[in-house]
Amino acid sequence: MKNFITINEGFTCKKCGKDNPPHLSSCRNHCIKCLHSLHVDKETPGDRLSECHSLMPPFKVEKDGKKGWMIYHKCEKCGKIIPNKAAEDDNFEEIIMLTEPKQSKGSIKKKS
Ligand SMILES: [Zn+2]
Ligand SMILES: [Zn+2]
Repeated sequence: MKNFITINEGFTCKKCGKDNPPHLSSCRNHCIKCLHSLHVDKETPGDRLSECHSLMPPFKVEKDGKKGWMIYHKCEKCGKIIPNKAAEDDNFEEIIMLTEPKQSKGSIKKKS
């Protein structure tokens, strides 16, 4: 299996199959359609040192005054949480949905 590349190159989403184009001005590290990411970075975004390579669903977003929308991804396998800056071409409806508190779903666990 090929390594998943998240440095500024296009990629095909493992979750929804969307072909993502390279980011215009930054690193493409999550799907613009379903916002899922992959656990390829260990400590800093883009280091690609992680050997986990599991799917990282987005679980919340926060509005940052300087950076704009931040999407928080949590690894399905190891529970690692990595915040990512939202891209300008991200699916904004998905972002808005993440801003609304989930009441019925109790799947997000706080502690790893
Ligand atoms: Zn996707
Ligand atoms: Zn992981």
